[in-house]
Amino acid sequence: MDIHLFESKTLQLPSPIQELSHSLFKEANVRVFIKRDDLIHPIISGNKWRKLREYICLAKEFPQLPLVSFGGAYSNHLYALAFIGHEFKLPTVGIIRGNELNKSSNPFLEQMFNWGMELHFITREDYKEKISPIIRDSILIPEGGYSEIGISGIQNLVNEIENCNPSHIITAVGTGTTAFGIHKYLQKPVIGVLTLNNLAEIKHHEDALNSSGITWKTEYIMGKYAKETPILDEFCQSFEEQHQIKIEPIYTGRMFYGLYDMIEKRAFPNGSTILAIHTGGIKLPH
Ligand SMILES: *Cc1c(COP(=O)(O)O)cnc(C)c1O
Repeated sequence: MDIHLFESKTLQLPSPIQELSHSLFKEANVRVFIKRDDLIHPIISGNKWRKLREYICLAKEFPQLPLVSFGGAYSNHLYALAFIGHEFKLPTVGIIRGNELNKSSNPFLEQMFNWGMELHFITREDYKEKISPIIRDSILIPEGGYSEIGISGIQNLVNEIENCNPSHIITAVGTGTTAFGIHKYLQKPVIGVLTLNNLAEIKHHEDALNSSGITWKTEYIMGKYAKETPILDEFCQSFEEQHQIKIEPIYTGRMFYGLYDMIEKRAFPNGSTILAIHTGGIKLPH
């Protein structure tokens, strides 16, 4: 499958930008727009397409080398990679945290296996060190797609938002790839809402990339990655009722919760135009 053909046939690109309305935004005299990367594709959700695209180009040049990457049992990143392998007929390998698991442990793993991904389940200790018995000649994609190649894929996202001319961009942060990419290609203030306790790692990346100027918000981690709280669940539900847009609590829920809180606290100057990136994350078993 040709990548351009795939993009025009299977993906919704460019993804739409919509304005959100809320009395709070009026009171604070800000406008809020949402970049609907969640609509790009139901499986290659949101920023996962952006981060993996350049790897597909690379893999097409070396079709005998498998695309290898890492993730947890519910990783959106590996799920997207497995689907891409299936669609582009490229070999993929998923190295999964937890040697107690197997391909039938959840419907996502099962689906990934059925799409042809080779699955390896390793201990948490080995996972930390990214030690795997099967890393052979391959195209290695770091966990979550964090790399120069992953960041370069965000340029396409930036090209699609320039016309909107926002004064601020806000996005959820896992590895930070999306936030770093936006900051690199669009010279505008970027706010990254952390979703896990990895500020030290993000700062390390920041130094390595010689990137500075992103505002990292750690106030909305809510304990730890994916920890559920009724506040967040209610927020996501009322957000959906108000805007008819689904968000999930792990990434985009925390980001929008943070955005509302910041607007309430008047963290944005009068007249700001804020663009929030809907990075996707709504995935259902296929
Ligand atoms: C993976 C993911 C992220 C994290 O993106 P990074 O580029 O790693 O910071 C954010 N939102 C959603 C919905 C995701 O699935």
